[in-house]
Amino acid sequence: MESKTTEDKWKEKLTKEQYKVLREKGTEAPFTGKYVKHHEKGIYKCAGCGAPLFSSDDKFNSGTGWPSFYKPMNKDNIEEKIDKSHGMVRSEVLCKNCGGHLGHVFDDVPKNKGCRYCINSISLDFELKSLN
Ligand SMILES: [Zn+2]
Repeated sequence: MESKTTEDKWKEKLTKEQYKVLREKGTEAPFTGKYVKHHEKGIYKCAGCGAPLFSSDDKFNSGTGWPSFYKPMNKDNIEEKIDKSHGMVRSEVLCKNCGGHLGHVFDDVPKNKGCRYCINSISLDFELKSLN
């Protein structure tokens, strides 16, 4: 029997849309993601591996059409990489655990707030949780 490649396993685990974003660095269309206007209290986890990535406490309405966070819940779970695709220089945000593409980070919010982590809804799974 042939052994499956890592990418084959991801194709089985993820939906087509999730695969496109998480493994092929796609971007969901703005205002289409399920977490854009989502205000429950809890934790946003990686849709690929379940690592906790963002807290609802840091989520804000950026008006861009993608879920936006001032900072990751735990910097250790996130990897940031320079991305020069599409004629722009941006910082790509990845899940450190599984290498899944999450979105990009921009520094266009007030410094005391943090940064703007612009994340695809489809890369996230939400877990309802009381944060107090
Ligand atoms: Zn992950």
